[in-house]
Amino acid sequence: KLSARLTAVAEFVEQGAILADIGSDHAYLPCYLVSNGKVKKAIAGEVVKGPYESAKRNVAKKGLSEKIEVRLANGLAAIKSTDEIDTVTIAGMGGPLIASILDAGSTELASVKKIITQPNIHASSIREWAVNNEWKVVGEQILEEDNKIYEIIVLERGTATYDELQMLVGPILMVDKSTVFIDKWNRESSEWQRIADSLEQAGNSEDVTNKKQELKKKIELIRRV
Ligand code: SAM
Repeated sequence: KLSARLTAVAEFVEQGAILADIGSDHAYLPCYLVSNGKVKKAIAGEVVKGPYESAKRNVAKKGLSEKIEVRLANGLAAIKSTDEIDTVTIAGMGGPLIASILDAGSTELASVKKIITQPNIHASSIREWAVNNEWKVVGEQILEEDNKIYEIIVLERGTATYDELQMLVGPILMVDKSTVFIDKWNRESSEWQRIADSLEQAGNSEDVTNKKQELKKKIELIRRV
């Protein structure tokens, strides 16, 4: 059974999509989407040999080798222009790593209409990448599984601007204000407060003062939601 996290990612994929799942590990997501007929064909990209082999084994075991091609490649280099990929998923990595993968692949994204990301931390890096590269946030979700909170950010082409608060917490999530969302930012905010308090003993060098100011500003920002 697919995790709640990857099931939520799968729900954002449109019927009939041609998918590239980057950093696919066991290829669970493309296997699920091809098996249930939502995706016509898929590429599973992996940069590390071990996960690449396990993805290949898993796809073969499920009898899906006709429809899922597993490729050993770094990031979006797994995509060829003849693949006509329209949807890219990148899940289970940090936001900055996902943003750097997207950054390195503007030519591979030529045919892509939808990018679905699931950053484990620093989701704001993805929103920043989007506004700087003419993509906009069209969907967001937040969920909790096994005591961990996960965010999903869905991008389509277009221009958008977000203020500081929208960048940090998500333009859609902050409107939805789900209990998981409130829980996440309460936790983050207490953590910042704890760091700010511990800095009270750290003297008043320029670095410490700047850090304290930055934390205070973030705590104030969060208070506004
Ligand atoms: N996407 C799966 C999920 O969400 O369950 C697997 C997540 S796993 C924690 C991250 C995977 O991304 C690892 O298998 C890792 O080898 C792969 N990865 C990391 N950087 C990558 C890159 N630049 N290109 C392709 N794969 C990468």
